[in-house]
Amino acid sequence: MTRVLLLGGTGDALKIARQLRPTDVYSLAGLGKVPDDLPCAVRVGGFGGSEGLARYLDAERIGLVIDATHPYAAQISANAVHACRAAGVQCWALRRPAWQPQAGDDWRFVGDWHELIAALAAFRRPFFTLGREPLAHLDDIPLHQFWTVRCLESHADTARSRVIAARGPFTLDGERALFALQGFDVVVSKNSGGGATEAKLDIARERGLPVVMLRRPVLPDVDREFATVAALLDALRAHRP
Ligand code: NAP
Repeated sequence: MTRVLLLGGTGDALKIARQLRPTDVYSLAGLGKVPDDLPCAVRVGGFGGSEGLARYLDAERIGLVIDATHPYAAQISANAVHACRAAGVQCWALRRPAWQPQAGDDWRFVGDWHELIAALAAFRRPFFTLGREPLAHLDDIPLHQFWTVRCLESHADTARSRVIAARGPFTLDGERALFALQGFDVVVSKNSGGGATEAKLDIARERGLPVVMLRRPVLPDVDREFATVAALLDALRAHRP
């Protein structure tokens, strides 16, 4: 029986983990909640780079790695491919499609933090929805801006920032009320894809707000790539009936 190592840390990965077997392993970086109700084993923490991961695959006799990490978690995805090649193990990946701009959208693509800050220069009330990175820059907020940062971590308010500690999914009604209350004039986002956090883009369109969008990192090729959890689970059932 092929033993699976599932690399996770996303809602989609959790859905896959719920369909795994007791001998399989669900792996988390250790930043968020660790589920205690899964049918498989759970391990937490890094492997020590691609070489550490290759050693783990060998020692644990893993027969298939499934990378269901976030599309911006580029390091672990690269490590997975390199380690699988070194250990002679197949690597599959769930790569959810990126969101696409629709009529009426004003998306401004940036490649890194520096470009992102430059793209925000003309705005006063940006809404950051791309994780914890803005927390490291709260002391550098331009004098004319007030930042609202939504991420998993909580953080004390400052004179020019407020952190909303929250985990998706977020609803259209909830986002509509938040935007109206806070008066954001621009949204800052990763192009994560999927439905859980898409409502902010609908509300940005509704209110005619620009979106500063951090481009997706390029991820390495894998043996098999799936766009949905259902397609991946079908393939897994066929692979080991
Ligand atoms: P990353 O930059 O690609 O990875 C950094 C290091 O964290 C990896 O080299 C690895 O350490 C460890 N790591 C990452 N994912 C792991 C996993 N599933 N199991 C064991 N070790 C893991 O990753 P990141 O962007 O910091 O994201 C960390 C986790 O948060 C990922 O699991 C990802 O799915 C989740 N997440 C990320 C984002 C995002 O925007 N980046 C959003 C939502 C969720 P070693 O080299 O020591 O093995």
